[in-house]
Amino acid sequence: MAGAPRRPLVAGNWKMNGLSGSETELARIIQGARELAALVELMVCPPATLLARFAAAAQGTALRIGAQDCHAEPAGAFTGDLSAEMLRDAGASAVIVGHSERRIYHKETDADVRAKALAAWRAGLCAIVCVGESRTERENGRALAVVGTQVDGSVPEGATAQNLVVAYEPVWAIGTGLTPTPGDVAEMHGHIRRRLVSRLGAPGQGARILYGGSVKPSNARELMSVSDVDGALVGGASLKADEFLAIAGVYR
Ligand code: PEP
Repeated sequence: MAGAPRRPLVAGNWKMNGLSGSETELARIIQGARELAALVELMVCPPATLLARFAAAAQGTALRIGAQDCHAEPAGAFTGDLSAEMLRDAGASAVIVGHSERRIYHKETDADVRAKALAAWRAGLCAIVCVGESRTERENGRALAVVGTQVDGSVPEGATAQNLVVAYEPVWAIGTGLTPTPGDVAEMHGHIRRRLVSRLGAPGQGARILYGGSVKPSNARELMSVSDVDGALVGGASLKADEFLAIAGVYR
């Protein structure tokens, strides 16, 4: 099923990093996003404390600002949590849901992630749904099955090419410097694509599938040239404008 070509997306997940001084790094990313805008979309997902500030700085530029997590409910007695509506109000246009650090440290299930994706859509945000197998699951030959189950359980019906991005992030590759082989990435992204298309039809063909896990300037070109890899979700290397822009620059 051939559709419109997918526009690559390189998104930076800043995790629990960044203070007000990070705005100088952001300014350089905004400049880079402008230069690369015809080729690739750039997004930065700062911690919630910087969301409104970054969104204000990026307003009217080519850089999109995303959040890192949301609560499933729109409002209420959930101390310390943030709703998708609040993130939208602060200037986010997307939110990461189901990152492995949330699945592991906060025990989030596929059902939780699905509810958060629905909350993102309710608020008008794009949901960046993360999936990925553990090292043991890969070693036991279960990677495709595990990720397929996560995709089915975490991605709600009603996805469109605009409101859904899937990020394949093998847990063992995050922050470790390890990456899967291009062949393994191709196999997994093809598997996710087929799963999305069989469940969602044409939107499953249009939704972008990002690779994440130790992407850096030195391996980005090889990883980004794998079929069905529509960009990257970048952790550590997104904190430095030079590295982040060098990764996005492979689309030049
Ligand atoms: C991430 O946590 O989303 C990630 C991809 O991290 P890193 O690039 O640092 O491996």
